[in-house]
Amino acid sequence: MSDRDESPGPVATLRRIAFLMERQREESRRIEAFRRAARTILPLPDEEVRRRAEDGTLTELPGIGRSTAAVITDACRGVVPERLLALEETAGPLATGGEELRALLRGDLHSHSDWSDGGSPLEEMAMTAMELGHDYLVLTDHSPRLTIAHGLSAARLARQLDVVDAVNDHLGGSFTLLKGIEVDILDDGSLDQTDEMLGRLDVRVASVHSKLKMDADAMTRRMVAAVRNPHTNVLGHCTGRLVTGGRGTRPQSQFDARAVFTACAEEGVAVEINSRPERRDPPTRLIELARDLGCLFSIDSDAHAPGQLDMLDFGAARATEAGIDPDRIVTTWERPRLLAWAGARL
Ligand SMILES: [Zn+2]
Ligand SMILES: [Zn+2]
Repeated sequence: MSDRDESPGPVATLRRIAFLMERQREESRRIEAFRRAARTILPLPDEEVRRRAEDGTLTELPGIGRSTAAVITDACRGVVPERLLALEETAGPLATGGEELRALLRGDLHSHSDWSDGGSPLEEMAMTAMELGHDYLVLTDHSPRLTIAHGLSAARLARQLDVVDAVNDHLGGSFTLLKGIEVDILDDGSLDQTDEMLGRLDVRVASVHSKLKMDADAMTRRMVAAVRNPHTNVLGHCTGRLVTGGRGTRPQSQFDARAVFTACAEEGVAVEINSRPERRDPPTRLIELARDLGCLFSIDSDAHAPGQLDMLDFGAARATEAGIDPDRIVTTWERPRLLAWAGARL
């Protein structure tokens, strides 16, 4: 946004504040206030917003409080709000050491919208990814069995694909929202969506979300079976561990990593480097093992909100530290190469 010469206007200012708060992991309720205010004024004529800013009547509108009204008033006057200035001051890279690799990343294969357990509409996720300079974002809402996360049935997924088409028609530029899923790996290693629907998608991330404590032999068989499934492109957050954060911690699940990563290398399935700081998954030792076994990697945000799309900084730093060749990271690839890879085993 820095290369604009005119002031960005109140909607863009509110969205920018929400984005920056989110990437700095501020409380989601406070962030939502800015997004709600942006939604309220988006459909209103500019003159009405400006008039209300001058009359001091913005707070009569639903979803606009004192602090969001102050931001809108500043933006209408062409003044950068204090709030935004303070956030921009601390808006450097989220992690250090991965800057060169981060600059090579063209997209992200793992993200969620409010169709499952994300907090924002898919078009907001797409718009933010575009603003971050991505060429593509794969939308990967959850599959049916993850009811706690409002996983999508085949019918809802089919409806979502129509919405993705409509969003892309609207964007119509160099950025593409790609069709995807984070499909649950069921206990026997099968995938939690119909083959027909999986076949309609561009990219499929397969992850374990249940029975993380199953014994190592059974977990190894389960994961290898999922990797051997020709629909699988990416093995998501393979150990399931949580190292910090509001959901508490969780140990990594036990499996024969050599067997699982060997299958990944043979099948051309990418091992995800999940950028979420509370996951740091896989652990460093396993990233190095996958590197030595010749695996491909995908650096993903697993964003559940727009500001989290920027968390790729963390994954890039970890991949750099592990000395991964950028050409083995599929998210450095141009879209045609990525799509050819993702569809190659079907
Ligand atoms: Zn997941
Ligand atoms: Zn996810």
